[in-house]
Amino acid sequence: MVSSALLAKAGWKVTVLERNHYPGGCAGTFAYQGYRFDAGATLAGGFYPGGPMHQLGEALDISWDIHPVEPAMVVHLTKEQKVYCWADSLRWQQERRQHFGENAEPFWRWQERTAAGLWSFAECNPNWPPQSWVEVNTLGRKGLKWLGQGGLSQLGLFTAVRQTVGDKIDKIERSKSSSAQADSLDKLRQFIDAQLLIAAQCPAEEALALYGAAALELARRGVGCLRGGIGGMAEALVEMIQRSGGVVEYGSEASQVRSEKGRPIAVETAQGTSIPADLVLLNLPPNDAVSMLDTGLQAAWKPWWIEKALSRREIKVPNDGWGAFMVYIGLDGSVVPDTFPLAHQVLRPESLEGHGLFLTLSPPWDPSRAPSRCRALTMSTHTELEPWWTARRQGKDVYERRKHQYTEQMLDAAEQVIPGLRSAVKVILAGSPVTYQRFTGRSKGWVGGYRQNCLTRLWGPRITDQLWLVGDSIFPGQSTAAVAMGAMRVVEVILQRLS
Ligand SMILES: Cc1cc2nc3c(=O)[nH]c(=O)nc-3n(C[C@H](O)[C@H](O)[C@H](O)COP(=O)(O)OP(=O)(O)OC[C@H]3O[C@@H](n4cnc5c(N)ncnc54)[C@H](O)[C@@H]3O)c2cc1C
Repeated sequence: MVSSALLAKAGWKVTVLERNHYPGGCAGTFAYQGYRFDAGATLAGGFYPGGPMHQLGEALDISWDIHPVEPAMVVHLTKEQKVYCWADSLRWQQERRQHFGENAEPFWRWQERTAAGLWSFAECNPNWPPQSWVEVNTLGRKGLKWLGQGGLSQLGLFTAVRQTVGDKIDKIERSKSSSAQADSLDKLRQFIDAQLLIAAQCPAEEALALYGAAALELARRGVGCLRGGIGGMAEALVEMIQRSGGVVEYGSEASQVRSEKGRPIAVETAQGTSIPADLVLLNLPPNDAVSMLDTGLQAAWKPWWIEKALSRREIKVPNDGWGAFMVYIGLDGSVVPDTFPLAHQVLRPESLEGHGLFLTLSPPWDPSRAPSRCRALTMSTHTELEPWWTARRQGKDVYERRKHQYTEQMLDAAEQVIPGLRSAVKVILAGSPVTYQRFTGRSKGWVGGYRQNCLTRLWGPRITDQLWLVGDSIFPGQSTAAVAMGAMRVVEVILQRLS
């Protein structure tokens, strides 16, 4: 939607094919029995001055209906210990000292320094990985500009390219001197693991230090809720596409990109239509994108030598890719005080593969999300993909039993945060990776993008000059803000090359 809106504004004749009946995919909001549930993503970042969503809003003349969420979330390490993730830096410093002690401060100082350097670099919208000599040149120019604007002092950060966040924690662990300090550092590791799982898809011992430091900064950069739900972003983009003369066709599933002489000429749909096209952007993971190309285009998809040298990857759902198990609840709002924080992460190491769950309530000030005196709640947990498909193959009973077990475990954990939740439930729906495949078209229901454990795992967006990838498989990866940044970069390059 981001790339289509930008291209439509630049004067291109744009048609968006969306197989679903509402926009947004993993960051969409769906209506059910008087509620508006966020389907996956719930908190949106990048709206701070100069941030990617702010830049996008300026470029498209959209004023986002975003409302800051402070604290960004509450992390429930145990029933008694809750860490408030404040965007306000002074409050956050007090909070982290209280929970993790003075010993952890060198870690936090490293994280903040590194994140500041990386975010300032990311805001230059670097084209990573470069896919041509022109892009090497552009990357070089952007890098030099960044160095000139103060990046030089942060250059040392890049010596950490091979280290993990876990290595950084180990470093401070070696200096602990008392059992109380050891306990605080255990808590630090639990906290970081949980935060990285949602922001980088892997724990500290795996997450690349550079990515991890930036991912840990998300709450501090400020997150917010959109009026009407997270789908409000995609809905605003659709409006912009339409206002610029573009078309958004819902219920229209692209099935093949047809080509002549290595160039796309049309997109066929499962509904039997054919849309002539000389530029195609596929908002899909690479494994789904490749299956949509005719043989001519598959042959034309030749990674550039830098990409080949950087990684030897196969185009498939990665073995370590995560799925999400979701529970959507419409509840009687009387069990939740109006001042109650909206987002919570609950750690449950003893059950669920994701070792916890994330839950977000609709804001009390947004009547569009739920009937009077009620609230909409979205809960998610990381889950392995394959067992869901095995259960599905074993039959409806097995699959439904598994869904029921997960729902019960999620409700148990959520009761810790919202006592009385079970008795307040008015509507409840559950979704597994099978549901995700059905609603987003992502094979096996793989969501959240690649684990951020390697600098070169993400794809470059260019397949040919007329065929591009957008979405969370291309740099800089997962999250609505990162997907928007990736799409802005693609449009910048397309306009340079083809205009
Ligand atoms: C449970 C969960 C929680 C998350 N929480 C957050 C969060 O709080 N904050 C955040 O910033 N990010 C969060 N994320 C990540 C974020 O949602 C994603 O990174 C981002 O939305 C991915 O966008 P995308 O465009 O790459 O893919 P998608 O969201 O999958 O969009 C692809 C779109 O293409 C459509 N489509 C697919 N195939 C076809 C076809 N053949 N023809 C036509 N249309 C097709 C789909 O219907 C869909 O609308 C979360 C993700 C999940 C799963």
